[in-house]
Amino acid sequence: MQDLVDLDRAGLADLLAGWGQPAFRARQLHGWLYERGEADFGAMLNLPAPLRQRLSEEATAGTLQVATEQTSRDGTIKRLYRLPDGQLIESVLMVYASGRRTACISSQAGCAMGCAFCATGQMGFARHLTVGEIVEQAWIYARQLQARGERLSNVVLMGMGEPFHNYDAAVSAIRRIMDDLGIGARHITVSTVGLVPAIRRFAEEGFQVGLAISLHATTDAQRSAMMPVNRRWDIAELIAACADYQAISGRRVTFEWALIDGENDSEAEAHRLGQLLRGLSCHVNLIPLNPTGGYAGGPTRAEVAARFVEVLESHGIPATVRVRRGIDIDAGCGQLKSTVLKRQAP
Ligand code: SAH
Ligand code: SF4
Repeated sequence: MQDLVDLDRAGLADLLAGWGQPAFRARQLHGWLYERGEADFGAMLNLPAPLRQRLSEEATAGTLQVATEQTSRDGTIKRLYRLPDGQLIESVLMVYASGRRTACISSQAGCAMGCAFCATGQMGFARHLTVGEIVEQAWIYARQLQARGERLSNVVLMGMGEPFHNYDAAVSAIRRIMDDLGIGARHITVSTVGLVPAIRRFAEEGFQVGLAISLHATTDAQRSAMMPVNRRWDIAELIAACADYQAISGRRVTFEWALIDGENDSEAEAHRLGQLLRGLSCHVNLIPLNPTGGYAGGPTRAEVAARFVEVLESHGIPATVRVRRGIDIDAGCGQLKSTVLKRQAP
């Protein structure tokens, strides 16, 4: 079976050319899939019946099966998909009053990076996702929104997995999201734990895609204890790569900071962070920790978070405390899957 969502425009054209179809058939098929958001070959009425028949026998439009779905009070949709080999991955759609519609998608089943506080890290690595599996997560939400007269406006690679550990597929998926789903680079963000060579390579791709860095600590001792990747590329190397990315892409870099009660939320820490980021065009997203089963830490209280913001602002660093959307449905990285697995456990 050929999954059409795994193919870009040229790949679709090659497939249909190989089936002896004229070139315009591939354009029609592409239009059905991505402009009309149609996944049912039987409904593609301007394709000849024998071609529709062959497509239904030899191809699929996507491979993801919904395993569970939850809708939160704030409109957030959280899905767990089952992949053909049984792996489970999460995708979230966040709905904002401004009209913004953001899909948060996964790049791997599990994650090899082992960050202590992260539910996905606690599960370990299962496998990389294919380009089609990454793109399809965004495509499904795009179609669903289109059907209700709305539009998917933003995509963030911030679900399960480390996108830059699956570099080639993640970059191809980003190109596809731009080309096939029509979402501009400036509306796409990739979040990384800090794989420095990949950040540098990504800068050379020449996209204006947003870069988000999971920082969470200002000293190497503390960051290495929470995030093993820091033993390979330390904070100084990471910040230097971010400064270069900023200079090359012209985009402000985002730093993500999970605020952990009594761990990394003191005023002194905020001052150190302000000094570390001084002179860099950036923004800090502060996210009170989502507690996970494998980590003892808890979230910072709102007053302490507000003080952290003030200190950063005194250093000229803009910062926002993010409300974790969909908190009532475990919409934190890897959390829905851990809840479902726990429920299934004997
Ligand atoms: N692997 C990538 C992207 C996926 S994680 C990365 O690490 O950047 C998306 C974001 O959620 C990261 O900033 C990550 O550090 C953060 N995160 C993971 N577990 C969390 C938790 N329990 N509470 C708050 N943020 C968490
Ligand atoms: Fe992997 Fe990101 Fe979780 Fe770290 S925070 S374990 S890199 S998904």
